[in-house]
Amino acid sequence: MGSHVLEIALLYDLHCHSTASDGVLSPADLVTRAHTKGVTHLALTDHDTVGGLAEAAAVAAELGLQLINGIEISSQWQGINIHIVGLNIDIKASSLATLIESQHRARAERAEEIARRLAKLGFENCLQGAARYAGGDLLGRPHFARYLVEIGAVSSVNQAFKKYLGNGKAGDVKQGWPEFEQVIQAIKEAGGIAVLAHPLRYGLTITKLRRLLEYFVKHGGQGLEVVSGQQSSNETETLVGLGERFSLYASCGSDFHVPDQPWQDLGGFGKLPAPCTPVWHAWSVS
Ligand code: AMP
Ligand code: MN
Ligand code: MN
Ligand code: MN
Repeated sequence: MGSHVLEIALLYDLHCHSTASDGVLSPADLVTRAHTKGVTHLALTDHDTVGGLAEAAAVAAELGLQLINGIEISSQWQGINIHIVGLNIDIKASSLATLIESQHRARAERAEEIARRLAKLGFENCLQGAARYAGGDLLGRPHFARYLVEIGAVSSVNQAFKKYLGNGKAGDVKQGWPEFEQVIQAIKEAGGIAVLAHPLRYGLTITKLRRLLEYFVKHGGQGLEVVSGQQSSNETETLVGLGERFSLYASCGSDFHVPDQPWQDLGGFGKLPAPCTPVWHAWSVS
């Protein structure tokens, strides 16, 4: 007798942020929102921390949502700031803990330098101001951006990046993030899958992006974020092609940070196109 298989719509969102880094929802509220939006499998991937995962896991268990342990780590490749998402990681792994610790130190030092530079432009007390927007001790540019909005220096977070914090601006402090391969290695040692985050957001030519991917794969990178929030179908096509060329697993995620941006909401992105091998095949038993 053939077994009757009940079709349940699975929705994976494998990239988002809570107050543990630069998101504005607590891990509990984030998981609840994801559940409301129909997400069945969620990876919380805060910048350089796993601090939100315990709270997220507790709420996920209550709601019957599958939580995947994740992180998004800042690294550098040829001096360019590249983000690597680690999925299905063991959060107790020592390799990861060591890296996270040094990332925290690096972020603290960088935040002081950002504040010094903003002070030179006449914006006082930015370190304290930004810290109020950060749940933990992990400061990023969005926290400074929110403070600049608060004091009326700019009208929006976007403007803050445009004028003071974005690429090449005064507050864009070039941090000595760890090398690309070191980050991939730490994720692998934690039993996770290293995924190149939002590949088209680094401003690289396609030739340079291919070079980056070659290097990524050579050092153990296994996944490519093929679908993310706010992406055109042309861009998706480009990424599908690159994923196939380098035999990478395909990931998808919103990169959700704040609830009032409907184009970047939890679960709110297109399906992974057919040729892709979903990254969850790497860890889920069929
Ligand atoms: P950081 O981690 O301090 O390097 O800051 C990078 C973060 O800033 C990203 O993860 C985004 O959340 C945010 N971000 C970067 N560019 C922009 C932008 N143009 N507008 C708003 N947020 C941005
Ligand atoms: Mn962010
Ligand atoms: Mn990122
Ligand atoms: Mn992100």
